[in-house]
Amino acid sequence: MTESTQKGQLGRQAVVIGGSVAGIATARVLSEHFDKVLILEKDPVDEGQPGFRDSTRQDRHLHQLLKGGAQAIERMFPGVTEDFVSSGAVQMDLGMDLVWSTLGTSLPREPLNINILQQTRPQLEHLMRRRLHDSGNVEFRDQCAVLGLLTTDDHERVTGVQVMERDTNQRIEIAADLVVDTSGRGSHLSRWLKELDYVPPESLLAKTDLAYTSLLFEDPHLGSDRPWLGYYVAAVPPTSPVGGAILPQENGRWLVTLYGYDGNHSPTDLDGYMEFASKLPDKAIYEAVREAKPIGEAHVFQSAGPLRRYYEKLSRFPDGLLTLGDGMCSLDPVYGQGMSSAILSAEALGEVLTDLGEGRSNLKGLYKTFFKKIGRILDTPWTMCMGTAMVYSSDTPSAKEKRESAYLTKVSTVAKEHPDLWVQFLRVMQLVDPLESLHTPAIESLVSQANDQA
Ligand SMILES: Cc1cc2nc3c(=O)[nH]c(=O)nc-3n(C[C@H](O)[C@H](O)[C@H](O)COP(=O)(O)OP(=O)(O)OC[C@H]3O[C@@H](n4cnc5c(N)ncnc54)[C@H](O)[C@@H]3O)c2cc1C
Repeated sequence: MTESTQKGQLGRQAVVIGGSVAGIATARVLSEHFDKVLILEKDPVDEGQPGFRDSTRQDRHLHQLLKGGAQAIERMFPGVTEDFVSSGAVQMDLGMDLVWSTLGTSLPREPLNINILQQTRPQLEHLMRRRLHDSGNVEFRDQCAVLGLLTTDDHERVTGVQVMERDTNQRIEIAADLVVDTSGRGSHLSRWLKELDYVPPESLLAKTDLAYTSLLFEDPHLGSDRPWLGYYVAAVPPTSPVGGAILPQENGRWLVTLYGYDGNHSPTDLDGYMEFASKLPDKAIYEAVREAKPIGEAHVFQSAGPLRRYYEKLSRFPDGLLTLGDGMCSLDPVYGQGMSSAILSAEALGEVLTDLGEGRSNLKGLYKTFFKKIGRILDTPWTMCMGTAMVYSSDTPSAKEKRESAYLTKVSTVAKEHPDLWVQFLRVMQLVDPLESLHTPAIESLVSQANDQA
């Protein structure tokens, strides 16, 4: 984080709507620029320990923190990686420790020097929230549902939020110099904008009809020579619309997620779940969990598909308001990019605010620079997940997005024969490097040679 910024330079109070991963990262960044930051979260939150929440039902499913997101979290919350490790997160080298299987064939296992930490989503969120308290000027208020925005009479500027305090059933108003909506995919921001006579952003929902079914197991490899730490069976739509993964979690657990597109969903009862696992193109997941002891019940999460709201295309937007996270772009969970994209977006918000410099305390027109910058960050993960989305969705992306997505698919195929390119491809998938890094003359020429031979 930048050390030269002065707290309070941009205003007395910023309000963040939603206290999940995007909200926590956003609050951290805002804490460098405002006297006080208030996070309003509608769910009850136990500050003492990790826990599942009603409004983030995805938290019972596999959550990978990509390398790009992990690096950004550490920059934001120095020391948090150590917290993850000491709380039991499992460190894995992507090349050595994870078997990556596609249509029954697995990639050669060799060190890639891309290390990731694997843990449950509630633990990750809990440890980020705990570090947030170090900022000293952030207040996290749970059971506070934001009902709408307060504005000036001409609606040109947002001045705060209307809130329902769920524990007391009271409606209150809270003033803010800046409101950032991080309330997730179900955000009401489009409706609120319409009510204030603004045109909401155009959006694209690429329907893939995906479901995750996840079940915890005791890790049977604990204490033994492990053949691998994690196993990933990729879906290859439309040839093979189903996949699954076993990833180690804290406390000696495996979280095993089975997934399928286009209505190919795993049942939640144990027999149905095991039968689904047995039909994956690689039997390894089935074989591994057959002898393992399940803990609790399987949980399912259904998603219509990736959804992007193109805020960067808007030409009119109220001052004193921004948004980021899943509310702006909700990605295909299979690629594991949502949290990292949100964290990188929050980090970019910090850069935009720092660049404002002194004397720009009214934040006028900030949305233009901010949404353009975030739009560019989102282009990489969005393009990645469009490859699958286009197989199933008739709502197709723009010609540029289609072109980029088709190019990426070709790069991924060529990369399997070229180890250096495979590492670079993974760095882009892990959101360490942007999409443009796969557009060097050398890579483009490799891809076009492969095209000519095909
Ligand atoms: C099945 C599944 C698996 C996933 N796997 C991965 C993965 O492997 N890796 C990865 O990086 N990402 C993954 N994701 C995506 C990831 O969960 C999100 O990108 C991440 O949670 C960031 O989202 P967010 O903070 O913007 O929104 P959310 O996490 O949805 O949080 C929104 C928050 O806002 C609160 N809220 C909503 N409305 C209001 C209101 N009116 N007032 C106050 N509070 C409100 C909610 O209670 C919630 O806490 C997955 C998603 C799904 C569905």
